[in-house]
Amino acid sequence: MKKIIDCHTHLQSKKLVNEYFKHRTGYAITMKALDSLIGNGDKIYEEIGEIDNIFLCECIDAFSKTSIEDQLKNIKKNLCKYKIIGIKIYLGYQPIFADDEKLLPVYKFCEQNNLTAVFHCGVGAENLHSEKQINYSSCLPIAKIAKKFDKINFIISHFDYPNFNDCLKVITENKNVFTDISGEYENFNNIPYENLINDFVSKIKPALNKYNIKDIINKIMFGTDYFGIGSGFDAVEEYITTLNVLFSKEYEDLFLFENCLKAYPKLSNYIKIDNKI
Ligand SMILES: [Zn+2]
Repeated sequence: MKKIIDCHTHLQSKKLVNEYFKHRTGYAITMKALDSLIGNGDKIYEEIGEIDNIFLCECIDAFSKTSIEDQLKNIKKNLCKYKIIGIKIYLGYQPIFADDEKLLPVYKFCEQNNLTAVFHCGVGAENLHSEKQINYSSCLPIAKIAKKFDKINFIISHFDYPNFNDCLKVITENKNVFTDISGEYENFNNIPYENLINDFVSKIKPALNKYNIKDIINKIMFGTDYFGIGSGFDAVEEYITTLNVLFSKEYEDLFLFENCLKAYPKLSNYIKIDNKI
């Protein structure tokens, strides 16, 4: 199997997993979605929970009728049985900042169970329209909790698009914060990917150029946000191309594989250095 991990997908059914791996190999991490978004609740466990090369990030609904404590209890039950390696929080989709007190039990739980906390950050999705929603999805408050919970890792999804400077500031100032480039191409109108890639590269490049490559290259991961052919989120190779345009080939193993193993310590229970499950 090629050394590659897609750190951010929404492969929430067997069908989507088969579709995704039709033309490629490697591993993928699936983000469980809120039921109010595209989620299918605990059904995801039956669907994909036992597939060897798929790992799962659970999610917390900060505004559910079920308390956060009870949601964590439910996750705990599934922790040993399934390959849960992190917990996703949907900032912006929900009106809450990453450093809200309400979320502290989630970070404590991650600390106790060696899990990574992942955030939706930035615009990056068609549903975030208002200025207010976008404010909630900022990565800046993550710096505060990353210092407080320095034993766990945090991931800023989507490079906090378009706030690349904020994202770079938080990942370079905090050893336990990582980011991915997933979700940059919400291609609902079938625009040629070449145009989308050029556009994204030209936007992010000035921010990246302010840093020494050695200070950032251990923190950036390949991710897609894949949600099926025709979903508007179906690019995969395009993200690999983007990374190859942005960074020299010598760093490929880092952004395609090794950084993800570092960002998700729990992955090493399943993927060994010799690359066997
Ligand atoms: Zn996503």
